Amino acid sequence: MKGRTLLMIPGPVESEPEVMAALADPATSHVAPAFIEIFGRALERLRTVFSCPDGQPFVVAGSGTLAMDLLAANLTEPGTRALVVNTGYFGDRFGDMLARYGAEVTHLRAPVGGAPTPAEVDAALSLRRYNLLTITHVDTSTGVRADVQGIAAIARRHDVLCLVDGVCSVGGEALDMAAWGVDAALTASQKALAVPPGLALAVAGPRALAAFSARKTPVASYYSDWSLWLPVMQAYEARKPAYFGTPAVNLVHALEVSLAQIVAEGMAARVTRHRRLSDALKGGIGALGLNQVPLRPELAATTLTAVYYPDGVNASFLPKVAAAGVILAGGLHKEIRDRYFRIGHMGTVRPADILATLGALETGLAAAGYRFDHGASVSAAQAALVG
Ligand code: PMP
Repeated sequence: MKGRTLLMIPGPVESEPEVMAALADPATSHVAPAFIEIFGRALERLRTVFSCPDGQPFVVAGSGTLAMDLLAANLTEPGTRALVVNTGYFGDRFGDMLARYGAEVTHLRAPVGGAPTPAEVDAALSLRRYNLLTITHVDTSTGVRADVQGIAAIARRHDVLCLVDGVCSVGGEALDMAAWGVDAALTASQKALAVPPGLALAVAGPRALAAFSARKTPVASYYSDWSLWLPVMQAYEARKPAYFGTPAVNLVHALEVSLAQIVAEGMAARVTRHRRLSDALKGGIGALGLNQVPLRPELAATTLTAVYYPDGVNASFLPKVAAAGVILAGGLHKEIRDRYFRIGHMGTVRPADILATLGALETGLAAAGYRFDHGASVSAAQAALVG
């Protein structure tokens, strides 16, 4: 039997062979003309993927947390007032980070599985003056998707900068920075962009760049300081050599290949694919009688699915699913960590992956002693996919 497995976790995700092949390029100089062209194209394609034609993209070696830092460090000064629209683990992280840079942080929280509404954000912004707010577009700990479009419109009305953590959304969920009035957004390579981990990606819109220019104090992080990276990003996009910190050349090439595939698929088609596959998977989960963490279907992300264990089943069933060939992830949110598991379905995911995942899930559940109608989830998902 072949030893291959299917990786269905909410990042890192599987990459297309062409993307992996770029990682095996012979070593190249970061100022070689061919690499300058690759980096320049990657930056241009990020504008398309984030839908921010007049924004400034940043590509820096590091994980998604560095991408958060690229916004937090540059847009916060001591005394900055920040509202964190908090839907779980990564909202807490953004709040901690902003506080580290001297912000006065207020969290607007929802119960586990819920998300603050635009009306609640409006009320919070009416109570006191804030400089910025952050939204986790999809909180990977709960599978909850926040209403970025609605909240960004409220933020703009209150003249508050709107920053979006799109680590679990960009390239899978709809995000239109320019049309929605999102001032800065970030992601990482290893999620819906389907590149191995190692690149922090951010796009700053005109209002975020203006806020940066109006800073009164130096940026407290050296590595994240936009003033050090801006000339480098601008040079690569103008197809000129530049240096601040050595770029992760092979990863940047892999990113460029994947972004080309994404742009060729088309953002709208890609979002539709994610929604269709997510709906099929979630239908299958429902057919097994399992409950999801998001409190209502419209709060559920299309990039991952967070599912409560049924009675009598716990995390020890995940290795049983893995033995059936599919890797899933355990819980992350501190209040429910041991009560649920997560299935990632973003990036290169296809209908056959959904069916294979549900098949392996059923095998694991059966081995864990859960009683259900065998084949019910696969059948429901197949009906949704074919119908
Ligand atoms: N934000 C969100 C929404 C995430 O899902 C993650 C990673 N799971 C991060 C931030 C942090 O990214 P990284 O682990 O790459 O530092």
